[in-house]
Amino acid sequence: MLERVDEIAADILARKIDKRAAVEGFESLSAADRGRLISRLKSAMPAGGCAQTVAPRRAGQLRCINERQLGASHLRFISDLADRYARFAPTSKQNAVKHRRYLVDARKIANLKKPIKSLQFHITYKTAVGPYLHDVDGNRYIDITGDNGVNLFGGSPELIANAVTNRVKDGYPLVGYTEELFEAAKLFCELTGNERVAFTQSGTEAVMWAVRMARAATRRSKIVIFERSYHGLSDTVGAVRSHDGSSVSAGLGIPQEYADQLIVLEYGNAEHLEIIAERSEEIAGVLVEPVQAAQPHLQPGHFLQELRKLTLETGMLLIFDEMITGFRVCPRGAQGHFGVKADIATYGKIAGGGMPTGMIGGAAKYLDFIDGGQWELEGSSMPKLERIYLGGTHTRNPVKLAATVAVLREMKRLCPGTLDCRGCSCFQKQLSARTEAMAEELNSFFREQGLPVRIDYFSSLFKFTFIDDPFGIVREMFLVQLRMNGVETSVSGNFFLTTAHSDEDVKAIVTAVKSSLSTLLTANFFLPVEDGAPQATEDSGGTAPGAQRGVSDADRQLEKLKELIRADFRKFEEGAH
Ligand code: PMP
Repeated sequence: MLERVDEIAADILARKIDKRAAVEGFESLSAADRGRLISRLKSAMPAGGCAQTVAPRRAGQLRCINERQLGASHLRFISDLADRYARFAPTSKQNAVKHRRYLVDARKIANLKKPIKSLQFHITYKTAVGPYLHDVDGNRYIDITGDNGVNLFGGSPELIANAVTNRVKDGYPLVGYTEELFEAAKLFCELTGNERVAFTQSGTEAVMWAVRMARAATRRSKIVIFERSYHGLSDTVGAVRSHDGSSVSAGLGIPQEYADQLIVLEYGNAEHLEIIAERSEEIAGVLVEPVQAAQPHLQPGHFLQELRKLTLETGMLLIFDEMITGFRVCPRGAQGHFGVKADIATYGKIAGGGMPTGMIGGAAKYLDFIDGGQWELEGSSMPKLERIYLGGTHTRNPVKLAATVAVLREMKRLCPGTLDCRGCSCFQKQLSARTEAMAEELNSFFREQGLPVRIDYFSSLFKFTFIDDPFGIVREMFLVQLRMNGVETSVSGNFFLTTAHSDEDVKAIVTAVKSSLSTLLTANFFLPVEDGAPQATEDSGGTAPGAQRGVSDADRQLEKLKELIRADFRKFEEGAH
């Protein structure tokens, strides 16, 4: 039914149907799908979008305090916390400063806030096993960093650790073939449904080569990427969309000439498909992060299906960057989830089992650009001449491939395998369901408390969205509190449940989140919003305006849908004048 949800959402957003038809579509859905439709509509309305401009604040609704609003009591709280934190993790704090002279680390300054910078240091870890991290000061944390999406089975699972150890014992030749290389390639193709695969040293490289392949295959130069997608650090994808829609260099050191090769569009915006159609003669490929880690609630299945049709019609490649979604949502990744087959797709993370790696999988006709395709040692056949260059010292490092084989064998053991991941109920789906249950329990808590916080999630990825101040001081304070309550997060803001987390671990995460926010609430880091002030966003499951005690959930949901549609139409009407 997810497809149906996407369809209705897309129709409403594109205003293909009127309010009555929207309500009828909504009523034809199951209760769960109604909830999904509402959250999809909410998320698809641009950041700061329609619902934000019109929804009145509910009584009891809170907002985050910002840096300029910090008063004496807040500063005292921060100073006390800094003292406690320094006692909690003294060696980590010392290390953060001591090694700065030699160690270059951009991450340590990510979202640094002057009033709380003494709290913003990295922990030095000692062990990472199962769902737990231990630091050098003897603290134990439940790990929800998932190592930025690498750990599906938790930290250092025995099956991977053994495979890596054995390979290290046997040596790790980098130049020729090893058995791991063959098994990794075969398993990868079987599980993902790709015809061929090439290994790279990182996800960044996989994307670079995928883009090169698309340009080689089409002899066109432009690549479409989307706002808020991430595709690694190379200049190949180093552009952002400016207010007038043009592409500008993503930062210092990236020449504008690179950005000029990119067309940056709005993800999920059906109107932007027309731009692709109009400029199709110069576009080699469209690169998507199918569910963006930056906004996992945006799951535009219908948009991707339309994009697939368009790219086929116009002879450009559709490239899925499955770095996070691949092997997480199901063995076939987002392609299996949405029922859309890309021409080529890039992978890494989970499939690397914790080792640095990347993969490009796809149709043989494109992968053949790397090695000239099929030919025989005997006889007269030779590789095709049209080729692109791809290499790298560690592309086939057998230690990382041993980890890959271990992960893929386990994946195959645990998932019965199906061509259509949407019908599957394998361990990944169960993990997704656990993530959803945890997120929704917390979302209810946020709503009850009037907190301007929401958990957005897709599959086993989740993130805390501080609605009115996404990267503000309160979010940073929350992450510190969470750590002191025994849950470790990362600066990326992307968090993950793994198969290693027990139900007790999940309960402990929930408790830590509630307790961390309650502490900040008590210390007045959230302030009441005056009645009638515009609301940053409105929630998906709480009491809708007009809802009363005794009104059924379905009625409340319907009310909410109408409110969203009203907001959207009003915005549309305002824009039209
Ligand atoms: N694409 C996506 C979607 C990613 O999430 C990442 C890594 N976070 C990359 C590309 C780059 O991968 P790597 O860090 O291995 O270079």
